[in-house]
Amino acid sequence: MLLNDLAEQSGPKGAYGVERNTEVVSVEQSAHYVIVTLRHEDGAQEVVHARYLIAADGASSFVRKTLGLEFDGATYADPLFVADVDMTWPLDRDKFYAQVPRQGMLTFFPMRGDGYSDRQYRFIGRIPASWEDKEELTGDDIQSLLDDHSVVDAKINRTGWVSKYRIHRRMTKQFRVGRIFLVGDAAHIHSPAGGQGMNTGIQDAWNLAWKVALVVKGQADEKLLESYEPERMPVAKAVLNGSDKGFSFIGSPNSVFHLLRSALLPRLTDIASRENVGKGIFKFLSQTWIGYRKSPAVDGDKNAKKVRPGDRAPFAHFNSGESIFSLLRGVDHHLLLFVENSGDSEVERARAKSLLTTYAFKTHVYVIDPAERSLRGVYGVVTPTAFFIRPDGHIAWRGEINRHNLASYLDRFYTRRKRCRGAGSGYTADFSRGRRLGFRA
Ligand SMILES: Cc1cc2nc3c(=O)[nH]c(=O)nc-3n(C[C@H](O)[C@H](O)[C@H](O)COP(=O)(O)OP(=O)(O)OC[C@H]3O[C@@H](n4cnc5c(N)ncnc54)[C@H](O)[C@@H]3O)c2cc1C
Repeated sequence: MLLNDLAEQSGPKGAYGVERNTEVVSVEQSAHYVIVTLRHEDGAQEVVHARYLIAADGASSFVRKTLGLEFDGATYADPLFVADVDMTWPLDRDKFYAQVPRQGMLTFFPMRGDGYSDRQYRFIGRIPASWEDKEELTGDDIQSLLDDHSVVDAKINRTGWVSKYRIHRRMTKQFRVGRIFLVGDAAHIHSPAGGQGMNTGIQDAWNLAWKVALVVKGQADEKLLESYEPERMPVAKAVLNGSDKGFSFIGSPNSVFHLLRSALLPRLTDIASRENVGKGIFKFLSQTWIGYRKSPAVDGDKNAKKVRPGDRAPFAHFNSGESIFSLLRGVDHHLLLFVENSGDSEVERARAKSLLTTYAFKTHVYVIDPAERSLRGVYGVVTPTAFFIRPDGHIAWRGEINRHNLASYLDRFYTRRKRCRGAGSGYTADFSRGRRLGFRA
């Protein structure tokens, strides 16, 4: 889906685009370039010199192997199956169901979309030990599993496909080697418990993409790229550990785990339905807990009581009811200026403009009126405060409104216009939204 979108937006030939049925067959790097050999569908080979290579080539990553990086970790002992079935059963189709019988785990995902019937489910579970030697599984096997273990009557009408697979918990010790970066499953894989794998990979890519784009355009220093690994590796480790614990608890056929599950899960689901616990679970699963406070690329008021550099800019509403996130969209940077007096707005905006026009990357500046009390509360603002927010929504710098402090931060990572090729406008202000949202831009 993402690749299709990207392919549709392809730039002029040679600028960027998606080349399908093209394989990376060799990778080398020098001090200045990565040299990649591509084999096209017709067998023709092409050598590409690139400043950087982002390897998103999955768990069996050719690039990772070429770099000689170990994929440390283990394979779970118990194999799983996945089956797409047309199934009749009495439960609500708007919900995901999981059962945790002695056999290990059965999960049912209702499927929707083109080509699916309104009884279509994806069914994932642990393969019983007695089946481990079976070469292939059939719909009849899956039906017998349901007959033996499901707590509701379920009848498979038709089986689309059934597949056996093993899952792993593995991670590389480096997410970067020279000019080559690893993202997604190429760098870390974990159990599907919690549905975190693809999300973590997409966030790796988003963390890295804007940094590489600015460096390649000459708008930021290469030093910015040094933050990728220290920011993303702790996240991958935490996701790996969390999903490992979850999977071991839910999926294991071990009798101790089974007893614990039987005793604890009914209570846990009850507790999880309480609002504050539900919010915590949402925070974990949605990955909104992720922060980069220890990143070498964030700075400013690191002792702020609330909302420190590296944190994700928090969700909050303007007095009008509109979300702050409606401003923080897109691929540019944002500067929020929480002023003390409405009368300061124009002068602070002008100062920010005069600073930011000296840089080539684009920043949207918003002056937040002191009447926006709820927003100030969420952002922990008690004195005039500025937040410089990165394209990925994390706070790069927080400090008092003082352009010299902000400039000294920016000069460590971003390039001033005179040193930069192809500079565009470094500053925009969105006046129409400012008026609509009740703050001054
Ligand atoms: C049963 C199951 C359920 C899951 N459920 C979830 C879920 O609910 N939520 C979630 O977030 N994640 C889930 N995941 C994990 C998720 O599927 C993966 O984390 C995600 O697909 C990884 O994306 P990726 O782009 O890093 O790698 P991949 O999806 O593996 O893509 C790698 C791509 O690189 C290409 N490639 C490989 N080698 C080369 C080469 N030499 N040259 C050119 N191209 C190459 C491949 O063809 C492929 O297109 C699940 C995984 C499993 C197994």
